[in-house]
Amino acid sequence: MSILKLKPACKDYLWGGHRLVDEFNYEYDGDVCAEAWVLSCHPDGPSIIAEGEYAGKTLTEYIEKEGFEVLGTNCRRFREFPILTKFIDARDNLSVQVHPSNGYALRYEGQYGKTEMWYILDAEPGAFLYRGFKKAISKEEFRERIENNTLLEILNKVEVHKGDTVFIESGTLHAIGKGILLVEIQQNSNVTYRIYDYGRVDKNGRTRELHVDKALAVTNRVPPVKGNNAFPHIADCDYFTVDRINLDGVVRYRMQGSVTEKSFLSVLILDGEGTISSKGEKKSFRKGDSLLLTAGSGDYQIEGTCNALMTTIREKEAPMRVGVVIGSYETRIGLVDEHDSIISEERFLTHPERGYKAVLEEVSEEVLSILENHGVPLEQCVGVGVGVPGTIDRKKGIVNYSNNIKWNNVDLVEELGRVIPCPVRIANDADCAALGEAIVGAGKEYSDVVMFTLGNGVGGGIILNGKVFEGGMIGGSELGHMVVKADGLQCSCGRRGCLEAYASIPALLKHAFEVTGEHLSVNELFARYDKGDRNVKKVLDEYMDILGTGVVNVVNIFRPQLVLLGGNLSNHLDVMLDTIRKKMAVECFGSQYVAIPELAVAQLGAEAGIIGAANL
Ligand SMILES: [Zn+2]
Ligand SMILES: [Zn+2]
Repeated sequence: MSILKLKPACKDYLWGGHRLVDEFNYEYDGDVCAEAWVLSCHPDGPSIIAEGEYAGKTLTEYIEKEGFEVLGTNCRRFREFPILTKFIDARDNLSVQVHPSNGYALRYEGQYGKTEMWYILDAEPGAFLYRGFKKAISKEEFRERIENNTLLEILNKVEVHKGDTVFIESGTLHAIGKGILLVEIQQNSNVTYRIYDYGRVDKNGRTRELHVDKALAVTNRVPPVKGNNAFPHIADCDYFTVDRINLDGVVRYRMQGSVTEKSFLSVLILDGEGTISSKGEKKSFRKGDSLLLTAGSGDYQIEGTCNALMTTIREKEAPMRVGVVIGSYETRIGLVDEHDSIISEERFLTHPERGYKAVLEEVSEEVLSILENHGVPLEQCVGVGVGVPGTIDRKKGIVNYSNNIKWNNVDLVEELGRVIPCPVRIANDADCAALGEAIVGAGKEYSDVVMFTLGNGVGGGIILNGKVFEGGMIGGSELGHMVVKADGLQCSCGRRGCLEAYASIPALLKHAFEVTGEHLSVNELFARYDKGDRNVKKVLDEYMDILGTGVVNVVNIFRPQLVLLGGNLSNHLDVMLDTIRKKMAVECFGSQYVAIPELAVAQLGAEAGIIGAANL
């Protein structure tokens, strides 16, 4: 079976009308039918297969049973069914809203972001919608206008007519106005940040929730590009390509095409009636029907009098990268898209004792397979970045020395380059983590960021002007080995008084043992601190003081906008921020005259290293 006819999931949102039931003959007995989800695998409203072997099953169940391959090779890069198609009947205005990009939504919502397009089926005279801003505005003005109800004044109003196409890229503020009937084709996501709802209440007298802070974080505050540059399609982006066919029954009565292995074909009948046939199978259709032809169905033919939207998924144009972080325990490999979001991640146990050649062989295999599994051709992979714990010569692509994985003079770039035909770059793992945080994590608003990673040792990365600072690209920055106490405790590097000798986790626990006489875990230590244990307080006060000295030293040299604390201690660092800030306020040079840098806790955990490596 290669032609599936689908029944929609209907939604009764408060702004909807009844045209979808009256004109499209959908089986639905509610008073309001605002939306009909005609092609959907979204759990909030999956389409149901209408006829044949799978009748009554959801489209999601069909795909699970038949295999994801029925969607085509171009869909391998998605975690789930890529699009969601709806009819929308706006009897009243829809709220003013924005959808996040993939990068934001995958990280904070566990769903894809949403880019969408509208095809206008009908519009009352004078009907309009909003698409983006008339002029660029600041975040402050944006917030102010939301608060004092003057937002609509600065939105870009677009009058629409039957047959118009409107493209709404993620991050574009938008609202559908009343008196419009349209088709919406969008990424498969239900993440919406509403910021203005005309003060409406639902049947229980409640207003709908607004999401102002999230909207402020994701909205593109400059006017959207005008016009439609999807020609010859009516819409075309990484997520969907949409064409309209018109069989008038006189000049054109028949159209033929082919569904290749690359993508399924969705056929949505906007009006009229006819038949569709493929591989000896023939199905009749009428206005409102949603048909899906699975990938590889081959030649098909449509006959009749109708308008229809034809949607396929093309190859992705935007470049992809791979980020690798080699750790002494585990190696993680992530496929990273142009929004710096991790599309997929693989990991394996490093087992460094088997030698660098075996480890790097496994890295190469995994990099090639993650690309292949997601349908990313090698020429679309613009780079592979690798983070390694140790001293790195980035220019030569060599790991000079790594204590953690016992590597000595390993020519990493050459080893991987033999198998991987894309550019390979390396850096110290702490530098990668700092770069990842600076790009999409706690430091994304800043260009100059210093990050301390507190773990078995003390590492660090310095990002200046958005780039890793490494001093001649050899050796990197070793924040843990700045001396904070002359002639102090013995450090693993052979010298005395380094920050690492005091601020690493083992050093902290050892000090706690000396003071309390007990072997405490990190969690136990901080639990006692919360309860006000005096001995533990003494230990942590000293810890914060010496870590603060390290922070102040770095601030006095680099003057970053932000200092981040990360690593395995991250979950407990919040309690230290105020104390260290106070020390910074006193000890940072010139603090009585100029602002001191911000201090914050890193956000991304292990993801930061992968994203940073992918950005080398
Ligand atoms: Zn929307
Ligand atoms: Zn040292």
